[in-house]
Amino acid sequence: MIRQSSYHCVGVKAGDSWIKVPKLKAIKARIHRPIAGKLKSITLSRTVTGKHYASLLFETEQAEPAPLMDIEAANVVGLDMGLSHLAIDSNGTKTANPRFIKQAQKNLKRKQQSLSRKTKGSAKRAKARLLVAKAHERVANARNDFQHKLSRQIVDDNQAVIVETLKVKNMMQNGKLARHIGDASWHALITKLAYKAKEQGKHLVKIDQWFPSSKTCHACQHKMASMPLNVRSWDCPHCASSNDRDINAALNIKCQGLIQLKAEGLSVSAH
Ligand SMILES: [Zn+2]
Repeated sequence: MIRQSSYHCVGVKAGDSWIKVPKLKAIKARIHRPIAGKLKSITLSRTVTGKHYASLLFETEQAEPAPLMDIEAANVVGLDMGLSHLAIDSNGTKTANPRFIKQAQKNLKRKQQSLSRKTKGSAKRAKARLLVAKAHERVANARNDFQHKLSRQIVDDNQAVIVETLKVKNMMQNGKLARHIGDASWHALITKLAYKAKEQGKHLVKIDQWFPSSKTCHACQHKMASMPLNVRSWDCPHCASSNDRDINAALNIKCQGLIQLKAEGLSVSAH
């Protein structure tokens, strides 16, 4: 739960290490990104754990670049998102959730279990609830930082990024908490990729979640009848290609994305 108040235009100011809103003195602040453009509004928020945040909205002169219309297939990346790895790309790079996020998640789980054992209405329960909120915050912050860096790199390195919308079916076989974490995490990563791509006139393409990216051989398009989750690699019976489950899926996602980009009228050169 977060309490918020917003201040618009008149009386809002910001400097290198402070912000100012009407009726309050200048507030010392740690500014995370360079201030540029005309300040439109400041939203102050306070988290349950007592941290204060201010988000500053600027109007910039810079117009968004026109979308790239000519792209090279070599500069397009397909991403498969899973629970074993946060993302696997069509070049074969697998990105796991870093250790510090996993530790924060473990800590959160422990705090949640502890909370569930406390008697309702007790002071101990109130304290445990605060610890859960703090642990939540740590997971969210760690994940956010990491995803900002990852999405920045992916967008900088490519002209188009292809992702699949969430595969609900696969997730059913995992625990509720894992599913919840995975779900929120992919969604947040896709959101970051989308706006970073837009800032550079690049493309984020979402493909249909029912596209059989795991079951199809990327080399010959042969479709397997089934592909259980525990199969991590397989040999195609048709073309004998040896397929890593996730990289094969990422390659299919890329291929499907290229088809979609062409359908949208972009010129895509081969490779
Ligand atoms: Zn094949």
